[in-house]
This record gives sequence, structure tokens and C-alpha cells, in this order.
Amino acid sequence: MKAYIDKDTCIGCGLCADICPEVFSLDDDGLAEAIDEDIPDDVLDSAREAEEQCPTGAISIE
Ligand code: SF4
Repeated sequence: MKAYIDKDTCIGCGLCADICPEVFSLDDDGLAEAIDEDIPDDVLDSAREAEEQCPTGAISIE
């Protein structure tokens, strides 16, 4: 499973990085980015929580 960010939709609130810092961080423009690698199993639940909590639905996990 990998996480993807729609940067056109992200508003840079930082919630995803607070919920799951192992996968999400903010880039130099203040928008979210996700690790390129597969999401480690031990943080998959928190990554999914970030996906659910994102206020703009900018995160997808596939
Ligand atoms: S929670 Fe959503 S809107 Fe907020 S920084 Fe993360 S991807 Fe962007």
C-alpha cells in the first residue's frame, strides 16, 4: 500500500503529519507529501486514519 497526496486539494493543515509522521510530512511549500516507499505495516492504521481525517480528502491510499 502506498499513500498519495493530491497537492491541488491539500491545504497544508498538517493534520496528516501529526497523525502519522512516519508517512506524511510537509514539503517546502507547506503542502503534504508522503513517503515513496510502501507504507510500513505497523503504521498502516494511522496512515488510514490520516486519510479519513484529512479535511479536504487529499490523501489516497492504494
Ligand atoms: S491533512 Fe490533508 S489537507 Fe492537511 S496537510 Fe495533510 S493532506 Fe493536506
